[in-house]
Amino acid sequence: MISLTNIEKVYRTSSIETLALNNINLNIRKGEFVSIMGPSGCGKSTLLNIMGLLDAPSKGTVELDGQPVASYRDKELAHLRNQKIGFIFQSFHLINDLSVVDNVEIPLLYRSTNGKPRQTYAREALEKVGLSNRIKHFPKQLSGGQKQRVAIARAIVGNPEIILADEPTGNLDSAMGNEIMNILQGLNDDGATIVMVTHDESMAKRTHRLIRLFDGTQVL
Ligand code: ADP
Ligand code: ADP
Repeated sequence: MISLTNIEKVYRTSSIETLALNNINLNIRKGEFVSIMGPSGCGKSTLLNIMGLLDAPSKGTVELDGQPVASYRDKELAHLRNQKIGFIFQSFHLINDLSVVDNVEIPLLYRSTNGKPRQTYAREALEKVGLSNRIKHFPKQLSGGQKQRVAIARAIVGNPEIILADEPTGNLDSAMGNEIMNILQGLNDDGATIVMVTHDESMAKRTHRLIRLFDGTQVL
């Protein structure tokens, strides 16, 4: 589904060069639930951003469904990202002055889905994460776990094949973290391919496969 070959990522600022990823080779198969672990600064977010087509590698090939990503134009890439990939972040990234249901509808705005079906899809996504009773609430009226469930609903509202989660339980206590893991596991059981960055061994143990990074390199 996503395949990375000889990926290298160098960040260049005026005087400093950082080798963030070094010769990464990785194949994420359809239906897999993969976790990524490693110390702070080892390249986890960079790797996730490259898999999510948010950032391009300095060297190497990214393929999505067998097609090299470099062969797409920017506009096609944005479209592909919107159709195929859902993102979940540690800090939720909700818009505070939009209601829960309006937050969840956001990805559909980019697809010009009409108002009525947009609401229906958003409500269905909120139902899947168990938040049907909070749709008119605003983010600041929700607990951390509820905010993350809104963020998950937003990530899945367009039925993406791939979910990329950057420490989705990082800001939550272990009970709420477990709840979020249960939701992700349910989505995986329903066929979603999931790649999750985590610092929590017990979360990683619940996935199919663990990739360890150290200083930009895969640890085998
Ligand atoms: P992690 O997610 O594992 O904490 P990151 O992928 O965020 O690691 O960062 C990997 C390395 O790349 C770090 O050394 C970090 O300082 C560097 N880095 C990340 N983003 C940038 C950037 N935009 N510009 C320069 N260096 C960056
Ligand atoms: P960090 O945790 O290191 O601050 P984030 O996880 O917030 O990083 O963001 C990682 C990357 O994803 C950034 O390049 C950011 O611009 C991008 N990003 C943030 N929010 C969204 C979103 N809702 N949809 C798509 N991309 C996003």
